[in-house]
Amino acid sequence: MNLTPDPDLLARAAARRDVNFGRRITYSPKVFIPLTKLCQDRCGYCTFAEPPARVEAPYLSAADVLGIARAGARAGCHEALFTLGERPELRYPAARNWLDENGYESTIHYLKAMAELVLSETGLLPHANAGALDADELALLRPVSPSQGMMIESLNPDLECHRGSPDKTPERRLATLEAAGELAIPFTTGILVGIGESRQDRIEALEAIAASHERHGHVQEVIVQNFLPKPGTRMRDHDACPKDDHLDAIALARLILPVDVHVQAPPNLVDTIDDLIAAGIDDLGGISPITADHVNPERPWPHLDGLAVAVERLGYTLAPRLTAHPEFVLDPDRWFDPALHFAVMDRSDAEGMGRDDPGAFFPERTMEKSDVTDGAEVVLVGHKSTAWYSGADQPPPVLLRGPASDRVGAIGGTVAEVLAAAREGEELDEDGIVTLFSARGPEVAAVAQFADELRRETNGDVVTYVKNRNINYTNVCTFKCQFCGFSKGPLSLNLRGAPYLLTLDDIAERVVEAEQAGATEVCLQGGIHPDFDGEYYIDVIDAVHRAAPSIHIHGFTALEVTEGARRLGEPLEEYLARLRDAGLRSLPGTAAEILDDDVRAILCPDKITTDEWLEAHRLAHRVGLTSNVTIMFGAVEQPVHWARHLLRTLELQKETGGFTEFVTLPFVHMASPIYLRKRSRRGPTFRETLLMHAVARIVYHGHIDNIQASWPKIGLAGVTQLLHAGVNDLGGTLMDENISRAAGASHGTELTPADFEAAIAPLGRRLVERTTRYDLRQPQLSG
Ligand code: SF4
Repeated sequence: MNLTPDPDLLARAAARRDVNFGRRITYSPKVFIPLTKLCQDRCGYCTFAEPPARVEAPYLSAADVLGIARAGARAGCHEALFTLGERPELRYPAARNWLDENGYESTIHYLKAMAELVLSETGLLPHANAGALDADELALLRPVSPSQGMMIESLNPDLECHRGSPDKTPERRLATLEAAGELAIPFTTGILVGIGESRQDRIEALEAIAASHERHGHVQEVIVQNFLPKPGTRMRDHDACPKDDHLDAIALARLILPVDVHVQAPPNLVDTIDDLIAAGIDDLGGISPITADHVNPERPWPHLDGLAVAVERLGYTLAPRLTAHPEFVLDPDRWFDPALHFAVMDRSDAEGMGRDDPGAFFPERTMEKSDVTDGAEVVLVGHKSTAWYSGADQPPPVLLRGPASDRVGAIGGTVAEVLAAAREGEELDEDGIVTLFSARGPEVAAVAQFADELRRETNGDVVTYVKNRNINYTNVCTFKCQFCGFSKGPLSLNLRGAPYLLTLDDIAERVVEAEQAGATEVCLQGGIHPDFDGEYYIDVIDAVHRAAPSIHIHGFTALEVTEGARRLGEPLEEYLARLRDAGLRSLPGTAAEILDDDVRAILCPDKITTDEWLEAHRLAHRVGLTSNVTIMFGAVEQPVHWARHLLRTLELQKETGGFTEFVTLPFVHMASPIYLRKRSRRGPTFRETLLMHAVARIVYHGHIDNIQASWPKIGLAGVTQLLHAGVNDLGGTLMDENISRAAGASHGTELTPADFEAAIAPLGRRLVERTTRYDLRQPQLSG
């Protein structure tokens, strides 16, 4: 049947997509592993299946499988798509014999072994596309394959193309779909359009898929694939699926399926993706940078850069996802075998999408270090990932290129709406902030551009820094922050990083050295030693103040002062006043991590609560101390938690005005205990890092004037991009910064003003030294 798709139908489908999935078009960067081309079925359209005489071996060997997967991991793929014929051992003795000789009960058992191998050696997430399976077979694959798939194709039992294909009966296909739902397997299915079925057949197939999803919630995506005749097949002389039928079927899928089901069409089977997007798709399926589409070998994958441009031209953005869609990734207990929780989290970003920093991506293997002088107790071994991470020495991807005005094309959708509202002076709410954090592609440049404008309006072209010295007076701590690679229990062995406690004389000596080196600030932070009572902190301030009366003492987190007051049984406000009188001038905003108690329950369960952190800063401001806001992000939380963090601190700033700056602390995962225990992500992506600074600039505008980037975690190459995204401050020169290095960061422990100058000179900005409270000191020479 050759239908003209009803423009109204297409428009309704596209609108439904826009409402539910916004302007984001997703794809899965993958490699294609054709485990066996033998198949017991003989579908009339198939070029994938081959008889034994036409293949070199019945199955790919483990070495071949690993070779493909490793190439995929090196190219930055996230998915290993295992595609294979259905139960070839039931038809071909060659397949049965190969399985017997190699010790596998069935093709599915071999698939399980290969998926396990790929997962452990490369970290690529397997997607098993093994056809119509029984429940026990689906269950066998569940611990090694975060998602599985099987095309319904059509539920018309009389199609000529399915003659001789025992697995293509509607009953078997529907039973597989249903069993996958009962087993809570994120499932991919779809229909094949143009194989002799009617429009009504398509509707009935889509309705059956919708009904199964309504029962189990497991259908993550429905592929609407157009039939193309291929030489050498029974259907070689049939007409290709008319474009109009294909678009009509896409629109029907979007309108019939529940709103949360993604609708996908492969981009390599059409001449242009414009029509697919106009008909309502939100996903382009798996796209491989290195392997062919083995099911449609005559149709190569489009190049990703070109695809991104084509998508952006239509006002959408292209974003990589994992083999399981984010709705499933963010609910791992329900959808994944526990064996897969970390493997999925390791490749995901805060939205549950695939990490989008380019470069090789392998599982990290660590060994204990014998030399722990910098505090990091482990060293990375094995295949090296080259993607950017906070703390790693790889340069970040270039997200902002050239002057802002050249970067930003027209964007639409909710990001544009939120930016427009912010430009009108509207305060952003939680949803608006989450929307800005979802920016991709040109949206990122648009958010950064607005932040850059606000930065210029607030700070001009001045880039500030402070000459300071960090003094981490002890690394002994009774708290059990899950991310902290710095603290040591008092009984730690030397081999695992020596516990230390500086004497007051040691501290005073370092302060004098710092002042002689030109520092205007000392920053005092440390673990919570079991022997400290609150008087210890007063004694430290006293010692520092006596050693260098004019140096600014920036010291003690909300945790340290809260704990100090608690151990003395003294009201916190009185205690803060005594610290002030001893010489304390400001509090660092650390110990904030993420100001959301659900996240704190995971990251730092025994630490002060969100309210206690805010109260400590409220009281500090009340007694005349200033402080700053920090956020440690990228470990376990989601953008909604970032939004809450920004809004809570903004509220306090409106009340007290005591925060001088916002400091980002991107989570450094490499030697962090929570990552080594496989319970966190690998820190933020660079896009997330850039957006954190830009969105904070927008949210805090008019309230907190300074946005600081942390060079020990981001590196100067990254920081220079952030200077175009709302950042105006580089923080301290930081003699002896140990905390980032203890978590595995490889950037140095000290930078000089000349280092800063060299980094910002090409940007045409002016470097000026500041005090802790942002009074500007002598301008430095500028390029
Ligand atoms: S982050 Fe601070 S309080 Fe937590 S364990 Fe480390 S040193 Fe102790």
